[in-house]
Amino acid sequence: MRRPKVPSELRRRVLIEAGHRCAIPACKATPVEIAHIVPWSKVRKHEFKNLIALCPTCHARFDDPRGPIDRKAMRQYKVNLNPLLSGNLGGREGQAARLAAYHEFRSRFAEWFYVAEEHATAKSRKSAHLEHVESLRLKSIDRFAWVFCAVLDFQSAWKDTPACDLVGAIFFHVADWVDEIDDSELPIPEELARRDVKEEIAEVSAELHLLVCEGLSM
Ligand SMILES: [Zn+2]
Repeated sequence: MRRPKVPSELRRRVLIEAGHRCAIPACKATPVEIAHIVPWSKVRKHEFKNLIALCPTCHARFDDPRGPIDRKAMRQYKVNLNPLLSGNLGGREGQAARLAAYHEFRSRFAEWFYVAEEHATAKSRKSAHLEHVESLRLKSIDRFAWVFCAVLDFQSAWKDTPACDLVGAIFFHVADWVDEIDDSELPIPEELARRDVKEEIAEVSAELHLLVCEGLSM
C-alpha cells in the first residue's frame, strides 16, 4: 500500500497543537515535520493521536532505533501537548462512549431547558392557570431526572478532564435558576422572568463543545 499524504486539515491540527514548533519542549526548533509515533509501516494510517510535529533533528533521533528517544517518551510529549489524550491513546471504545455521553447530555439538557423556560414563562404571567403551571413544574422535574443521569454518565466517561467540570458548572447554574423559579411565588419577580439564562451559559457551553471536539480529536 502506497503511503498517502497526511491530509492538510489533519496536518494543520498537528502543527497548531505544537504551536508550529518542535514538540519537544527543550527544542522548539523550526521548521517542523509531521512524525508518526507508531511508525506508519505498522499503523498504515494517519491519525491525530499518533502524529506529532518534530524538527528534522529530533525526528531523526526518534527514528533511529539506537537513538535516545523511545516511543514511550514520544507518547508522553504528545500527552503533554494534549492532556485530554492521556490514558486514551488507542482507546476507540472510550472515545465512542465519550461521544455518546456528550450527545446524551446535550439532548437531555435541551429538553430540560425548554420545559424550564416554559415553566418560567407560564409562572411569570399574572393570569397564569395554576394547573398549567403545576403541570409544567412536574414536567420539568421529570426532565431534571433525565438530565441528572446524563450529567453523571458524562462525568464518568470524561473523568479527570476539564470537560467534566464544565458540564457540572452548566448543570448547576441552570439548576439554581430552576430552583429559584420553583421557590418564587406566582407571578415570579420581574428580574427572574427576564433573566436570560441561555445567554449566561452560552460562553461556557461553547467552551465545553471545543473541549469535547479536542478530546475526541475531531
Ligand atoms: Zn526538535
